[in-house]
Amino acid sequence: MNCHICNQSTESFVHEKTNITYYHCQACEYIFKSPEYYQDFEGQNERYNLHENNEEDAGYIAYFQRFLDFTLPLVGKPKNALDFGCGRTSLLATLLEKEGIDCDYYDPIYHPDTLDTDKKYDLIVSTEVFEHLHQPREVFESLLKRLNSGGYLAIQTEFHANTEELFKTWWYPQDPTHIVFFRARTFHVLCDIYGCRVVKDNGKNILVLKKS
Ligand SMILES: [Zn+2]
Repeated sequence: MNCHICNQSTESFVHEKTNITYYHCQACEYIFKSPEYYQDFEGQNERYNLHENNEEDAGYIAYFQRFLDFTLPLVGKPKNALDFGCGRTSLLATLLEKEGIDCDYYDPIYHPDTLDTDKKYDLIVSTEVFEHLHQPREVFESLLKRLNSGGYLAIQTEFHANTEELFKTWWYPQDPTHIVFFRARTFHVLCDIYGCRVVKDNGKNILVLKKS
């Protein structure tokens, strides 16, 4: 199996608890579940409905605030933004509006008809989305197309530790809708492919990049 990000050959390993095969690319450090285990839309929808994302929840607001505290100092003064894959609520968009940034939101399950095909943005944010994507490279490319020149894309997804042993004891792949796993290196490789550059990552789960 070749890597779905950089097309180099991968090494496979089996998670003994679930018997699921994963592919690990040494070149871009991407790990992906064997595609036969990718869930269909219905299965994903059921799982997402279990997520307790209450807009009034102080913990949930603080969680987004940590993302914004890292991201906003890096992205200049965006006039508008898109929250791509917002989930059920538009809380992150509301927080961005409070910062004076005009913000749209889109989610393939909960808000599927909110995208204007021609509209472009200074900032796109996408939190806890990329680990669910069957075709992350294609989505990455489509998001870059929605950015103005000099615009920023800020992604939050948990970075894996790049070893088989640690991957097998990690909580993140235990969510069956989490199918693909990144490190900062993976996004550096994507940036090289699409001619943009990584501005900064926090070494853990957030990365900001800039379109040329
Ligand atoms: Zn790769």
